[in-house]
Amino acid sequence: MKAVAVFPEERALRLVDHREPAILAPGDVVVKVLDVGFCGTDREIAAFRTGSPPTDSPYLILGHEALGEVLEVGSSVRRIRPGDLVVPTVRRPCRHETCRACRMGRPDFCLSGEYSQRGIKDAHGFLAERFCDDARWLQPVPRELRDVAVLTQPLSIAETAIAELDQVQKRLPWSALGETGGSGKRALVLGAGPVALLGAMALVVRGYKVTIYSHAGRGEKAEFAESIGAQFVTAEEEKLQTLAGHLGRIDVMFEATGATPDALAAMEHLGRNGVYLLTGIPGRRGAFTLDAGFLLHGMVQRNQVIIGPVHPSAEAFRAAIQDLGLFSRRWPGALPRLIANRISIDEAPEAFRQPTSGLKRVVAVAD
Ligand SMILES: [Zn+2]
Ligand SMILES: [Zn+2]
Repeated sequence: MKAVAVFPEERALRLVDHREPAILAPGDVVVKVLDVGFCGTDREIAAFRTGSPPTDSPYLILGHEALGEVLEVGSSVRRIRPGDLVVPTVRRPCRHETCRACRMGRPDFCLSGEYSQRGIKDAHGFLAERFCDDARWLQPVPRELRDVAVLTQPLSIAETAIAELDQVQKRLPWSALGETGGSGKRALVLGAGPVALLGAMALVVRGYKVTIYSHAGRGEKAEFAESIGAQFVTAEEEKLQTLAGHLGRIDVMFEATGATPDALAAMEHLGRNGVYLLTGIPGRRGAFTLDAGFLLHGMVQRNQVIIGPVHPSAEAFRAAIQDLGLFSRRWPGALPRLIANRISIDEAPEAFRQPTSGLKRVVAVAD
C-alpha cells in the first residue's frame, strides 16, 4: 500500500510501498485512512530537523492527525466495529515497568521520556492507505463529523491546555463558590493558526470574552473570528501594550504561535492570578533574548502560572470530539472554513515542503 515516508539518513521524502497492516493481537484494529492533517511538526520532520523512524525501519511514515474508518477488529474488541469512524491518539507507552504513567495507560505523562509518538518518534504515522493499532488508542467519532474530524488532534491540544487551566484555577478562593469556567473572564489568544482558532472556539463556548491577536493581516481570519463572537486585532493595528491597556485584566493568555519571542514577551501583560498556556513548541530557530528577570518578577508578584501542555490524553481527544459537535451546532459551516483544499496522497510529499497558508492542510487519502 501507499504511504508517505521520510528517510532521515538519505534526507529524502517520498511515497513508499509499505507492507499491509494486519491484526496480530486480539485488541488490534485495522483502519482505512480517510483524512490526514499536517502541521508545523510535520514540516520540521520533512525538513529532517526532528522525527525518528522505528528502530527496524530506514524510514518514518509521516502523519499524526488522522481520521479513518474501521475495516477489521480483533477478537477481543467490543467498543469499536467495522464501519465506525475513529481518530487515533498519538503517544504510545514506554516499556519501563517503573513508569507509573505508561503502566496506567497515560503516556501523555510518561516519566521515562521513552514513549513513542506515531508519525513523529520511533513509530510509523498514519499517512498511509491503512494502519493497525490497539483499540484503546482509537476514539470513535459520530458520522456527522466526517468532514471536520481531522481537526480532532489539533483541538485536543487546546482541550488539554484548557483542562489544565481549569485545574489550576481551582486554587482561587472563589472557585469553591461555583465560579468556574470562563464566564465573564478575558482570554487573549496569541496567533491565528488552526490551534489558535480552535482554542478560541473552545474558550468562547466556555464563556470567555476572547480576543485573537495576530501578526498576520486581517483577511478571512478576522471574518472567521467575528463569526464565532471573538474580537480580532492585528499587530499592525495595535501594539499589544495598548491593547492590553484597554482590554482590562487578561485572565488567560493562550499562546499558539510556536512560542515565538513576541508571544513569550506578551506574558508581561497577563493579569493578576492569570494563567499563560503554551501550546506551541519553539522551532529550532536558535536562542532569543527575553528579560527573564523582569518576567519572573512579575509572575511572582501577580500569582501567575505558566503551563505547557501539548500532549493530549485520550480524554482530551474525547473532549475535542464532543466540542467539534458543539461548534458545528453553534456555528454551522464554521469548522470547514479552517481546512484548506484537500490534496491527494501523491501530492503530499511536495506539499510538506511548501510554506503554510495558515489554514489546516489535509491529505484526502480516501473518500
Ligand atoms: Zn500536528
Ligand atoms: Zn513511560
